[in-house]
Formats: sequence, structure tokens, C-alpha cells
Amino acid sequence: MSSEAAPGLLLVLSAPSGAGKTTLAHRFRAAHADAVFSISATTRAPRGAERDGVDYHFVSPERFAALVGEGAFAEWAEVHGARYGTLRATVGEALAAGRIAIFDIDVQGGSLIKAAWPRETATVFVLPPSMAELERRLRGRSTDSEEVIRRRLAGARAEVARGLAGYDYVIVNDVLADADAKLEAIARHERALRGGPPDEAAARLAAVCRRGVVPLAGWRE
Ligand code: ADP
Ligand code: 5GP
Repeated sequence: MSSEAAPGLLLVLSAPSGAGKTTLAHRFRAAHADAVFSISATTRAPRGAERDGVDYHFVSPERFAALVGEGAFAEWAEVHGARYGTLRATVGEALAAGRIAIFDIDVQGGSLIKAAWPRETATVFVLPPSMAELERRLRGRSTDSEEVIRRRLAGARAEVARGLAGYDYVIVNDVLADADAKLEAIARHERALRGGPPDEAAARLAAVCRRGVVPLAGWRE
């Protein structure tokens, strides 16, 4: 048996804003010494307790445009009126070091990462249990104005339709500990598929999170 470390994994999390993907991504990272959170660059202003270089690299529109010109982004997109981009260097460093890189990005960005690194990427779409719960979470977070909340809710159905059409896995984030366990199983299983240690229990739990297997009452219309 080879004792080689598992190869790197690009674990993409997408969701309509407010579903809980940032919460899940940070809890996953905290539980894994070998996981890194991909810190995107963005032109939007920090909100709440967000810190530059920790949650995002907060940059001016001019700096963002310069980074685009330099080819620094693996993908970038305009979301809710601001620009966001994944730094190519983050992907390269994580893969070279055999680490798990977690991406909290939208579906268009996630699909581009998957297209660029098809063998290294697993895409996970996070759903709140219902649209009403999504609205409660966005309001409960108390970080966005009424106008921003309305814009995010208006975009949610389209984001859900795109995620359900193309992603590998779906996690319904109802009870947080269950969602944590599912994400853990998906990561273990995806690493096993790429030469990491086999894990039967993880394979079983990951299988019930496969898109097409998860029951989605209320989200398909
Ligand atoms: P996103 O990154 O998808 O926009 P967040 O991680 O910021 O979402 O979560 C939105 C809000 O919902 C936060 O206040 C968070 O604490 C809360 N939240 C996340 N997961 C759950 C859950 N399973 N049950 C209840 N509240 C949750
Ligand atoms: P927020 O403003 O709530 O932090 O993020 C808004 C949306 O932008 C979320 O769907 C988030 O996942 C997405 N996002 C954050 N970083 C990136 C990125 O680098 N690329 C893309 N395509 N989307 C991103």
C-alpha cells in the first residue's frame, strides 16, 4: 500500500445567498488542518465583522480590472452588482500542496472551476429547507439592507435552478450538524475516488447527496 498523501481537491460550495454556505465552509475549514479557504477578491464593501485578507481581498474597481488584465483570476463574475474573482494562485498552491481548497462562489464561477479542473473538482449546491427559511436567514443575519435582501431573494430561484441543473451534490442545510456531516462525507468520498483512503460510510452518505437523488419538494417549480 502506498502511504502517499491524498491529492488535492477543489471543493466548490454554491448556494443562493443566505442558505448557509459560508457557515458550512468555515466550519469545514476549522475541522481540517489541510483545508484552505479560497479568499476571493471583490469590489463590494466589507459587511459586519468581515476582514480584508480573511473573508475577501477587498479591492477597488480599478485594482480588480488590473487583476483581470494580468490574468490573475481563474474565474470572475459580476454578482449582485459587484465583481468577485477566484485567484488562480490559490488553486495552483492548493493542488501543488495536496490540500482541500474550499470555494464559496456562485454557480457560474463554480461551473468554470469545474470546467478548468474537471478531475480535481467536486461541486456542492447548498439549499435552505425552503424559500421562507432563506428569507428568515437573510433577515436574521442583519448585515444587508432591505433592498439588498430583496435583490438576493429575487435571484435565489434562478440560482437554485442553475445549481440543480449542473452540480454533483446537493446538501439541504436544515440542521447544521447534519449538513456538516454530509459535507465531510462528500470530501472523504471524493478524496477516496482520487487515491485517498477508502471510506465506506462516507461513500454511502455521499451517495444520498448526489444531485438527482436528494428529494427537492418545493424547489423544482
Ligand atoms: P451564505 O454564505 O450562503 O450567504 P451564511 O453562512 O451567511 O449564508 O448564513 C446565513 C445566515 O443563516 C447566518 O446568520 C447563519 O448563521 C444562518 N445559518 C446558517 N446555517 C443555518 C442552519 N442550518 N440553521 C439555521 N441558521 C443557519
Ligand atoms: P456575498 O456578497 O454574499 O459575500 O457573495 C455574493 C455571491 O458572490 C455569493 O453567491 C458568493 O458565493 C459569490 N462569490 C464570492 N466570491 C466569488 C468568486 O470569487 N467568484 C464568483 N463567481 N462568485 C463569488
